[in-house]
Amino acid sequence: MTEESWGRVCENLEKAIGQNNFSTWIKPLRFRSLNDGVARFTVPTSFVGNWVSRNFGDEILAHLTRDGHAVERLEFKVESAAPVRASAARPAAATQSAPAPASVSTGSADLPGAPIDARFTFDSFVVGQPNELAHAAARRVAEGGTVTFNPLFLYGGVGLGKTHLMHAIAWELRHRAPELRVVYLSAEQFMYRFVQALRERDMIGFKELFRSVDVLMVDDVQFIAGKDSTQDEFFHTFNALVDQNKQIIISADRAPGEIKDLEERIKSRLQCGLVVDLHPTDYELRLGILQLKVEQYRQQYPDLVIANGVLEFLAHRISTNVRVLEGALTRLFAFASLVGREITLDLAQDCLADILRASDRKVTIEEIQRKVSEHYNMRLSDMVGPKRHRTIARPRQMAMYLSKQLTSRSLPEIGRRFGGRDHTTVMHAVKRIEELRSVDNQIAEDLEMLRRALEA
Ligand code: ADP
Ligand code: MG
Repeated sequence: MTEESWGRVCENLEKAIGQNNFSTWIKPLRFRSLNDGVARFTVPTSFVGNWVSRNFGDEILAHLTRDGHAVERLEFKVESAAPVRASAARPAAATQSAPAPASVSTGSADLPGAPIDARFTFDSFVVGQPNELAHAAARRVAEGGTVTFNPLFLYGGVGLGKTHLMHAIAWELRHRAPELRVVYLSAEQFMYRFVQALRERDMIGFKELFRSVDVLMVDDVQFIAGKDSTQDEFFHTFNALVDQNKQIIISADRAPGEIKDLEERIKSRLQCGLVVDLHPTDYELRLGILQLKVEQYRQQYPDLVIANGVLEFLAHRISTNVRVLEGALTRLFAFASLVGREITLDLAQDCLADILRASDRKVTIEEIQRKVSEHYNMRLSDMVGPKRHRTIARPRQMAMYLSKQLTSRSLPEIGRRFGGRDHTTVMHAVKRIEELRSVDNQIAEDLEMLRRALEA
């Protein structure tokens, strides 16, 4: 295979996995050789090699094969280091964890950061499919050492754990490398500092302060969109730190390219590093978080009793965001300890009636069908009609999947609304889309977009 045919494969890969994924993961690969069925690439870090092999290995193999190459295996080699085999799956970053620090230290007193919440550690962060990549990337950054991607850009909806992960990085770094000057603050605080410096005519002090940090984390950066001089200053700070090879970690509620009124040059700098998103939680992750919270609570109150099925019920019914989920549980604990009773399903339904009502999805199956058919440019009637061609069947399956996820309708009910189909058809659709979601980025992106549009 030539460089040129690798280029061709790349074009197809980009279409398959989306531009963001492509530039983050595939672009850094350098094609070296292909012989005896082994395609060899060099990668900047073993982390990248592991991720690519784990998440995009099959896709790359498939595209190479489609391009006419006899290839069975991929090998990623870090420049002048041992090769990472395609089967060496787990990224090293996701394995060990440091004990939570006992007290809150805010670093040097003159640093401009905000305090770090002692509850937000890696230990208390539950990892599931929706946040796996963000977690691994955060871990990697928290190891300190050479800066491999700059900035790390975390994005996702409200309450999905962005702030938690940033604080966890801060804790871990303080623990591992106390000599580093780690600063965490919100974009709003950054602006406040900046305005203050302007008012006090101390821009030099401001610049010196921010340029002297080793790791800078700015939370909710979408806040500075449209605020021109703050953006400008942020851009300069950002560049100065990147030039010194200092780690920067940024969070926002959406991808860099989607932040309105953010200067192009900032967008493109933000995209230069590693951009990862936290997907909306799924049932398993929510249940995991609830279980962890209960465990933590039990350490203090060992006689807490929760009836079977209560946590499952909550994980199922409260899917807005983790913050609401935590709030519900806290209220439940408080209530149970007040009345001195076991937490039963009835108690939960009573005591959380308002939260449950609020997170009762108002989305209807009809709306879902309409949005999905608009999105795929197909006729609404085909949603409920008999056609089985893939261009129609696939969106229909996605609509069924979304109906299952976003409404409280049962499988048979959903089947009925899709032209009287059987509940096993719906079940199959849900399973199929779930599988596709994790391997086909286009589908994952479409689902995400549709879900946001529907929940807005
Ligand atoms: P964001 O900054 O994305 O809006 P936060 O980081 O503030 O969200 O998270 C909201 C709440 O949910 C916090 O209390 C946080 O600890 C909790 N949380 C979010 N994701 C997780 C997770 N994966 N495991 C444990 N707690 C989580
Ligand atoms: Mg936050």
